[in-house]
Amino acid sequence: HQPNPEAGAAVKAADRAHVFHSWSAQDLIDPLAVAGAEGSYFWDYDGNRYLDFTSGLVFTNIGYQHPRVVAAIQEQAATMTTFAPAFAVEARSEAARLIAERTPGDLDKIFFTNGGADAVEHAVRMARLHTGRPKVLSAYRSYHGGSQQAVNITGDPRRWASDTASAGVVHFWAPFLYRSRFYAETEEQECARALEHLETTIAFEGPGTVAAIILESIPGTAGIMVPPPGYLAGVRELCDKYGIVFILDEVMAGFGRTGEWFAADHFGVVPDLMTFAKGVNSGYVPLGGVAISEKIAETFGKRPYPGGLTYSGHPLACAAAVATINVMAEEGIVDNARRLGAEVVEPGLRALAERHPSVGDVRGTGMFWAVELVKNRETREPLVPYNATGEANAPMAAFAAAAKAHGLWPFVNMNRTHVVPPLTITEAELKEGFQALDAALSVADEHTE
Ligand code: PLP
Repeated sequence: HQPNPEAGAAVKAADRAHVFHSWSAQDLIDPLAVAGAEGSYFWDYDGNRYLDFTSGLVFTNIGYQHPRVVAAIQEQAATMTTFAPAFAVEARSEAARLIAERTPGDLDKIFFTNGGADAVEHAVRMARLHTGRPKVLSAYRSYHGGSQQAVNITGDPRRWASDTASAGVVHFWAPFLYRSRFYAETEEQECARALEHLETTIAFEGPGTVAAIILESIPGTAGIMVPPPGYLAGVRELCDKYGIVFILDEVMAGFGRTGEWFAADHFGVVPDLMTFAKGVNSGYVPLGGVAISEKIAETFGKRPYPGGLTYSGHPLACAAAVATINVMAEEGIVDNARRLGAEVVEPGLRALAERHPSVGDVRGTGMFWAVELVKNRETREPLVPYNATGEANAPMAAFAAAAKAHGLWPFVNMNRTHVVPPLTITEAELKEGFQALDAALSVADEHTE
């Protein structure tokens, strides 16, 4: 990987002149020009290499450039690069079969989309058509995608600017003991009170108006809050009681991230619809989808489903999914996430929490961990205010800069850093990352009281 600053400067100049970036004030960003990536690392044109604790946007579950998946994409490109969605195509059929084989319960029909947001859009449309009801209930502290309906359903500041067209979306509080909305002191109390709050919300919205409840099985971007035992089963019961469709969003938590094929597997819960994307093929080619239960598939047995996409089940994306799923199964990648999560990540993060006063809470499972940074451990005041920008966000910016200076690319959201590396990461790489985290947390400590 020879440094080539001139080439990097050209890439950067064209980016700044012509690329309009997501979620950003275009004049205030400074994107790194990336020259290449392999396994758990990527590098720039100046000779700097970074250990990637972000998996991109939590999607490269098998790491960068896995040779078997790259070869499968090349082979598919050589034989059938693309084909229209109305035909039966080998790569699409096989991807659907492999996914359905792993999804919980009777989620055996797969509707393919291009990514996570459109999977959420279609799941909600299916639920509304299936029930004939208008409303969707979703959680504060959630992310479901950037398209109109998906962003309205989202429970973080990214939805605010788009709430002018949010008809039928109602938010509620899901359990999160560290910052309990229910004055709970135990997981049991948090679970019972969150379920009571949800049932009251349904009652006051009118049970006959609610088409769906959508939840991330383990909320990701909003803070990796593993739900207490019994919560998702309780939501399942409420959905059955009121005839509401239960949608689990596994776009981030699915495909091995939590140490099981799907996060729902930790809880033994079967939703009516389940969305996926990202890890299905590690984002090598854009792909998402909805896994559909028998009951909802029947609704569209004789009646056409009013929705579709030109690239639904794109052969190149599906071939990447087939290769990814096979590689994950044959190389024990989900097991690696579970084992290293329990044996290396959890004890490593707990040791960092002991040493650093800025660490308020550590939580997660598998390769899906959040470290919550606070000004004060007693009051739990976040290190930066909710949705802080500019000067108010300086302590988190300083933390991130320190991590990068030590060769670690960290995932940062508000007052948290998430440890979400590829599931293929090794113990030695994790330890290298934890040394960099240790140094960066010392910088965060300077901002505590
Ligand atoms: N749902 C969840 C839980 C996600 O984490 C994301 C993306 O981060 C999405 C949906 C949206 O997926 P996409 O960005 O592929 O549209």
